[in-house]
Amino acid sequence: AAAVSVTGLTKVYRGGKRALDGVSLDVPRGAFFGLLGPNGAGKSTLINILAGLVIKTAGTARIWDRDIDRTPRAAKAAIGVVPQELNLDPFFTPRELLDVQAGMYGVPRAERRTMEILDIVGLADKADSYARTLSGGMRRRLLVAKAMVHSPPVLVLDEPTAGVDLELRQHLWEAVRGMNAQGVTILLTTHYLEEAEQLCDRIAIINHGKLAALDTTAALLGRI
Ligand code: ADP
Ligand code: ADP
Repeated sequence: AAAVSVTGLTKVYRGGKRALDGVSLDVPRGAFFGLLGPNGAGKSTLINILAGLVIKTAGTARIWDRDIDRTPRAAKAAIGVVPQELNLDPFFTPRELLDVQAGMYGVPRAERRTMEILDIVGLADKADSYARTLSGGMRRRLLVAKAMVHSPPVLVLDEPTAGVDLELRQHLWEAVRGMNAQGVTILLTTHYLEEAEQLCDRIAIINHGKLAALDTTAALLGRI
């Protein structure tokens, strides 16, 4: 089975904007999958439907074989979502933040992997520093760690490098690659072709709410 599977996914916002128009795609388990498309293509809408933040108009979506309508809690437990905004309480430390998150997801204390997760994202030495002392890049990596607290098999990132200094993106990619190397399926949106090319093994291109192409990165870029 696929990690994420959507069929005929359609979203018409109030006011009539058709942001997604019958998109069907499968994200294979273990993939590093890129959702590529220009601004306004519908990428965030698709991600937000999976995250439970936007209600779809039509179609189906399954995460790790759990239907988001029939078993929404189980579907939600199977993904971690890294939001675009860097909203973190400045007076919480990474350790505290991950503890609160683990509590919300009901992860028993004995099963919490706080330091292991902070280590993967390169923040082990910042475990007890206030978030206010962390750089923008470190905050985003902390949000990756936060999304992984309940050990979801799928990690979703919406434009993770928006606002991150070009030169400092590398740290973030190392963190996400580290998650993928641990077996986590990655689904990220981007409007940078080079970013998708460098990171992803499979790319879906969406434009005006429709799937324009879907293939391995090598096959897709060979064709362009
Ligand atoms: P992307 O992430 O690819 O930039 P979005 O999914 O954010 O695209 O947006 C797709 C289209 O839907 C755009 O035309 C956008 O303006 C519109 N849209 C997004 N959110 C809303 C909303 N809450 N209400 C109405 N239109 C929206
Ligand atoms: P990235 O955006 O890739 O995460 P950072 O901006 O976090 O990169 O910084 C790169 C390196 O500089 C970090 O690994 C860290 O060692 C150091 N650094 C940056 N900001 C701070 C800070 N506020 N406090 C301590 N060290 C920092």
